[in-house]
Amino acid sequence: MKKTAVFPGSFDPITRGHESIIRRALPVFDEIIVALGDNAEKKCYFSLETRMKWLERVFDGDPTVRIVKYSGLTVDFCVKMNAGYILRGLRTSADFEFERTIGLMNKAILPAIETVFFLSAPEYAALSSSVVRDILRNGGDVSKFVPESISGEIHKKKSL
Ligand code: ADP
Repeated sequence: MKKTAVFPGSFDPITRGHESIIRRALPVFDEIIVALGDNAEKKCYFSLETRMKWLERVFDGDPTVRIVKYSGLTVDFCVKMNAGYILRGLRTSADFEFERTIGLMNKAILPAIETVFFLSAPEYAALSSSVVRDILRNGGDVSKFVPESISGEIHKKKSL
């Protein structure tokens, strides 16, 4: 059976930390669906269209990575996409506590779906989309923290 994982997030914006988790998980799964959450309650810095465009650009040429927008429960989206796994990254013990709660709740809702955790690569353990946004807001350079293919465009405007 095809092993499909969903990697959900808001990717506001995608960072090298996200990219690293996805690339390292690729050998484990037949397909990874990067699930871009479209949550009306959550005010994002970059528009949904921009976040989608950047994800598509970063994984352009990777036939086993698909970018799909979604709203609603992640487990419902997994069922819709025929995915048996949710992929998440862990940087800190705070991430672990947060992810454990969500993982256990998802398991309670739909036991067939397994959450799989990858530890952050050490060089990205302090990296988050929110830190990238803070640097941008203050006119700093985020080239080292975001995928190369988006770093030119990300500096052009404060928010897109
Ligand atoms: P959310 O909107 O759910 O907070 P994010 O877009 O911030 O989602 O992140 C999606 C996933 O990527 C989460 O599992 C998060 O822990 C993981 N992640 C984010 N940054 C990093 C990083 N630097 N290293 C490893 N995993 C990361």
